[in-house]
Amino acid sequence: MRMVDLIEKKKQGGRLNKQEISYWISGVCDKSIPDYQTSALLMAIIFKGMTEEETFDLTDAMLHSGELVDLSDIPGVKVDKHSTGGVGDKVTLVLGPMLAASGLKLAKMSGRGLGHTGGTLDKLESIPGLSTRLSIDDFKKQVRKYGIAVIGQTETLDPADRALYALRDVTGTVDSQALIASSIMSKKLAAGTDCILLDVKFGDGAFMKDIPSAKELATLMVKIGKYFGKNVRAEISSMEEPLGCAVGNILEVKEAIAALHGEGPADLMNICYSSGTTLLLQSGLAKDEKSAQKTLHSVVSSGAAFTKFCEMVGAQGGDVSYLEDPEKFPKAIYQKDIVSTQAGYISNIEAYGIGIDAMKLGAGREKEDDIIDYASGIVLKKKVGDKVAKGEPLATLYTDHPHFERIAKDIYSRFHIGEEPVEVLPVIRDHVE
Ligand code: URA
Repeated sequence: MRMVDLIEKKKQGGRLNKQEISYWISGVCDKSIPDYQTSALLMAIIFKGMTEEETFDLTDAMLHSGELVDLSDIPGVKVDKHSTGGVGDKVTLVLGPMLAASGLKLAKMSGRGLGHTGGTLDKLESIPGLSTRLSIDDFKKQVRKYGIAVIGQTETLDPADRALYALRDVTGTVDSQALIASSIMSKKLAAGTDCILLDVKFGDGAFMKDIPSAKELATLMVKIGKYFGKNVRAEISSMEEPLGCAVGNILEVKEAIAALHGEGPADLMNICYSSGTTLLLQSGLAKDEKSAQKTLHSVVSSGAAFTKFCEMVGAQGGDVSYLEDPEKFPKAIYQKDIVSTQAGYISNIEAYGIGIDAMKLGAGREKEDDIIDYASGIVLKKKVGDKVAKGEPLATLYTDHPHFERIAKDIYSRFHIGEEPVEVLPVIRDHVE
């Protein structure tokens, strides 16, 4: 087989068969196929697409490129929840402990933030002492003992995705439904859980800009799950404005702690209760929606979910006293309110722009090796639909950079204010089963 023939075939709109896809992926992993040929094939896929069968074969080859995690010796239903990423998305920190306190086992591998998006690992690592680098053995021990562990993806899991994603990132070949779906699903399937809930975001701050394209991606990923015999569902949720109010690592951990006490922003609480309900039904732990909701509300109001969060943080070496007294977390040197110069109703808050502003304040990375300043970021004081008076704060910025005035102006420009009241839509807009 020759790689150049595969490139020609896809360029002409042909279909790659299982053997050809497996030849390509082994060549990516053992480096016998040079990056320029893989890049050419990726670009041909961007233009010509892949059939469902090709996407299943690609997922299969990628998932078998490395270690497969076997969780079958851990009692209970092992679940995973994956978000396609966004701004202010701290759902794992809240929903994970809620699920574990409800009797599920959350065994999750998460990612880091890049560009406008935040990453769960960075948020967790902003808790002093906490490590997300656990061996698979320690990961499994923790899931067995506490029902929850959130770690970084190990080097040995899905190496094909690591190599392909690094190339896609620099060759303009990220945005193909087939490539995104196989990338996400190969990692999720290799991680070995019984049930997977995918939160596919749409909107300004997400990969998918509108509901139809998010639904198309979600449907493809659910089909991949079915093909591999896994229990996978998806929800389509809005990333048109940031999720919750806090954007930035320590700020988001503090908001997650408030949410675990039942005091988080409405959109964050809604998505956690709604996704939790789906997972409790999907895993068979709840018989109907009403009992799922009751369980989730009771683990929050009894403090059981917060206790689970403390157990997880403690087990991963984190200092739990910061969770018990969030005022202990370090604070940014500078803090400034962004004040409205007009009265009206908030009609839009650009999620992508807020993500970029938070990154510039120090909360995120422009390049993979940038160092994060955990205390910096933005807290929204107004959300879409809120009424605002002239002189009222729209947001507060936190940073250690003394020259933040330009960024403060940018943050102001992300808020759109109209004269008419605005209808607030639910954060989850659709489901795919
Ligand atoms: N997230 C992934 O893991 N892979 C993609 O291709 C896109 C988003």
